[in-house]
Amino acid sequence: MRLLRVIEGDLNKLLIFELKDRFAVEAVHYRGDTLCISTQVGCGVRCSFCASGREGLIRNLSEEEILSQYLLAKELFPIKRIAVAGIGEPLANFKNVLSAFLKLKREGLKVSFYTTGFPVSNLLTLLDMPHNGVTISIHSLSERKRKLLLPYAGSLKHLISALRKKLPSLTKKKRRKISLAYLLLKKVNDSPEELTRLGKLAKELDVGITLLYYNQVGDYEPPSPEEYENAFLLLRSMGVRVTLSTRFRKDKVGGCGTLTVDIIADTKGKEVKT
Ligand code: SF4
Repeated sequence: MRLLRVIEGDLNKLLIFELKDRFAVEAVHYRGDTLCISTQVGCGVRCSFCASGREGLIRNLSEEEILSQYLLAKELFPIKRIAVAGIGEPLANFKNVLSAFLKLKREGLKVSFYTTGFPVSNLLTLLDMPHNGVTISIHSLSERKRKLLLPYAGSLKHLISALRKKLPSLTKKKRRKISLAYLLLKKVNDSPEELTRLGKLAKELDVGITLLYYNQVGDYEPPSPEEYENAFLLLRSMGVRVTLSTRFRKDKVGGCGTLTVDIIADTKGKEVKT
């Protein structure tokens, strides 16, 4: 595996790695000290708003390939935190992700995860690990709608019932590191009724909400800045802890949901993206 190319955005640096079988996966250096890494080549969850899952799952990354993203990137940039939030569903490649995670922890790094929570049994194991944050993608509290948004992320009902059982057993400090991700999509999941249901669930589970802004890579529309702010205010008025997308997550280069898988066409390292 080698670092093929680094693309500088306004805020982020997109790192493209070539794998031995000629596939290329991406990682993002952002906020000056954080590296967002990938765990799979493609993604079997195939979220309809995300470029990473368009081709489905091609294969899992090995433990070495997951770690190498950090080892190669740290030669160029300072890294104190790892966000396991790039291409792939970390729980679907759990054995390799877990062993890479333990090695990253031994390097003194803070490691956080973004996941759809599927398979749920792996999520429950992850929640007991010494992570620095687990953000679980909800995006809709309607089973039908969530299936359209996250086609292969399992049952929402099963996920929520597992969280209801598990979270009370965690300390308050540990619960504060868990949050529900909600990608706000105009006229899809942004009604006050839906946001109120979300707020009630977060209150009941005693976790925060990460309200994500949509980087338009598919057919959906992002909310206007005012609609985004109103959703934030509604949830805040319910007494919920809400985190908004930072400007790094919105950058055209390396922003959330924009990472893609490519095949390198020649041995010299053809440009895969500009
Ligand atoms: S959002 Fe995450 S889980 Fe969904 S397709 Fe993209 S990489 Fe996979």
